[in-house]
This record gives sequence, structure tokens and C-alpha cells, in this order.
Amino acid sequence: MTLRVLDHALSRHLLAELRDRHTPPEAFRQLLGRIGALLTMEAVRRLPETVRRIETPLEAMDHPVLATPLPALVPILRAGLGLLEGAMGVLPEAPIGHIGLVRDEATLTPAEYLRRLPHDLPERGALLLDPMLATGGSACAAVRVLKQAGATRIALLVVVAAPDGARRMAAEHPDVPVLAAALDRGLNERGYILPGLGDAGDRCFGTE
Ligand code: URA
Repeated sequence: MTLRVLDHALSRHLLAELRDRHTPPEAFRQLLGRIGALLTMEAVRRLPETVRRIETPLEAMDHPVLATPLPALVPILRAGLGLLEGAMGVLPEAPIGHIGLVRDEATLTPAEYLRRLPHDLPERGALLLDPMLATGGSACAAVRVLKQAGATRIALLVVVAAPDGARRMAAEHPDVPVLAAALDRGLNERGYILPGLGDAGDRCFGTE
């Protein structure tokens, strides 16, 4: 598996509130944003570094700095928008792309309706944002879109993953690490994650 579960007490605490069926959309959005910030912080922990000569008010020194431009933030619409605000808080200089995918509820396959991406993905790579990794269909399709645009360094950040989706990602995109706040038990017959948190888009935007 290419999936790693974030080991973070605050993330687990926030996730308990996020999963709670009584959490209203405004609190849900805020929690999603906060978990998005923690996932983003972890995802950039090991970005390549180099050394730059800087001057403090007292003397010059060689200081570690990032060797590459920041990765673009790319939410998968619409639920990925819930993670974006927190990710932007951590990486305010990162450009933002959008990939719009809608899931056909009968076949559970994704159809693309929007693609707007920064042109320099080959240099900067991307953090792909989607709260739910269920069957893996949308995530795999979105990674294909990023690769077509030339991105080679891609990571997928999700809140809740199902084993099916994690296995599919590892099989189709073994070069793409997946960081999740939790790995759940499985999927129901409609492709929802169990125990999961329900429909992330509906809960985020109050369209339930
Ligand atoms: N998408 C969601 O929003 N929730 C799930 O449980 C699965 C896919």
C-alpha cells in the first residue's frame, strides 16, 4: 500500500467531531479545513531542501530553504474544496488548480466536467485534495489528469480512506503517496465508506 495514516492526536480528535452525524455544515467545514491544514503540514514535511546564504541583522549564514517551488493545491470538486482553506493557510503562496469530477451513482464511475490547472505542474508537482478515498475511481482519474498535465511529484491527501480505494491507488499509481487521517473498514453497496462520515460534499455544503 502507498497509504500512510497520519499519527496525530488533534487530527483524531477533530475527526471524531467530523464523523458525528449531528455536526452541522458550518462546523463540518471548519473541521475539514483544520484537518486539511494538518494533512498539508505533514505532506510538505520532507520537501527537497537546499542551502541559501542569508544575512541576519547580526551576521551571514547558510540556511536550509526549499529547493523546488511549492506544490500546487488541487481540490477535486466539490468536496475537496472543504480541505482547500486549511491547505491554503499552510501554503498561501501555492497556486490552486481545480478538477471537477461527478460520480455516476449507478456505475460509481467518475465523469470529468472541469479541468483548470497551473501550467508549471512539471516543476512544482501537486497535492491532490479529496476528503474521501472510497472506490478510488475519482482519485485515480484525477491523478491521470495531473500526470497528463506533466506532474511527476503528486501526493493525495484524504480524510477517510477505504481499503478498496487504497489498494486501487497503489495498483494504478504506485508512485503517488496517499496520506489519510483514517483508514476505515470498508464500503457499503452504494460505495459509501463505513463507518465513514457520510457524503462529504453534502455535509460540507448543506445539500443533504
Ligand atoms: N464520497 C463521500 O462523500 N462519502 C463516502 O463515504 C464515499 C464517497
